Amino acid sequence: MENAEKKISVVVSVYNEELSLDQFHKTIIDILERCIWDYELIFVNDGSADRSIELLKQFAAGNSKIKVIDFSRNFGHEAAMIAGIDHATGDGIVCMDADLQHPPESIPEIIAKFQEGYEVISMIRGKNADAGFIKSITSKAFYKVLNLLSPIKFENNSSDFFALAANVAEVLRRDYREKIRYLRGFVQSVGFRKTTLEFNAGKRTAGESKYSLRKLLHFSINALCSFSDLPLKLGVYSGILVAMLGFILMIFTIANKLINGAPAGYSTIIVALCFMFAVTLIVIGIIGEYIAVLFAEIKDRPIYIVREIYKSDQ
Ligand code: UDP
Ligand code: MG
Repeated sequence: MENAEKKISVVVSVYNEELSLDQFHKTIIDILERCIWDYELIFVNDGSADRSIELLKQFAAGNSKIKVIDFSRNFGHEAAMIAGIDHATGDGIVCMDADLQHPPESIPEIIAKFQEGYEVISMIRGKNADAGFIKSITSKAFYKVLNLLSPIKFENNSSDFFALAANVAEVLRRDYREKIRYLRGFVQSVGFRKTTLEFNAGKRTAGESKYSLRKLLHFSINALCSFSDLPLKLGVYSGILVAMLGFILMIFTIANKLINGAPAGYSTIIVALCFMFAVTLIVIGIIGEYIAVLFAEIKDRPIYIVREIYKSDQ
């Protein structure tokens, strides 16, 4: 039978999830055992400081289809997903969170989409039961700005829940090794046969969100730098604007001197100075952000470091 030879790899990033792991493991194995494809479950332990790794080792010891990749420290959610994709051997790969906000119940639907021939499946968040007012607003604003600035248009409400066929994963492994990146953006911009499925993000099973507002801001800036160079050109546009304003001010000042014979006002100078310095500093700051990206790329440090991989062979 054709299906029996196919395999789905599920990649799960884990950072201090000792409270969710048991329930997640139980739920997902139950679903995977009933899928028409064979499976492989890859947990990436992203430097958890709690008992997560002990639990994961136990899961792996009891099931040879479970692989645990243990990082040397915390490298972040995207690095964990990349490591999982690097180590996945399935015909289709699903990336998801360990807190049951990404429902494992969607996996059979994902497999059905793979069977229809789709190669990239983006899971779109219908509603997010866990997102507060601020998170909803900032997330909306983020996608607005990103889509405004980037030549590539992104799906609103996309998530780190997505699925890739083996050939797409190979492209990411080979050609998308950027240190500053926006993985969801890569997934949506590589092309291939794409489709979307909707899911509702439930509440976190246990524990709390590992994404602080600071982390989210950093993440947003990286995404922007990774997909748009428009802010870099702000220097040119603001330069032209300031030059035009300066020209008007110059004419005004000369006319004033000729007519009234008086020197131009003190306030005008202060306002003009403040405005010009503000524009200059903002533009330098933006260039700084992009230089930071270049710097990270040039250093070419690893995206993640693996301490050990656990897998039982029986
Ligand atoms: N995560 C990770 N490394 C990190 C932060 C988070 O691997 O540095 C994992 C976390 O364990 C979870 C997923 O990424 O499986 C999403 O994190 P979280 O649920 O905290 O984010 P939210 O759902 O609030 O956006
Ligand atoms: Mg979550």
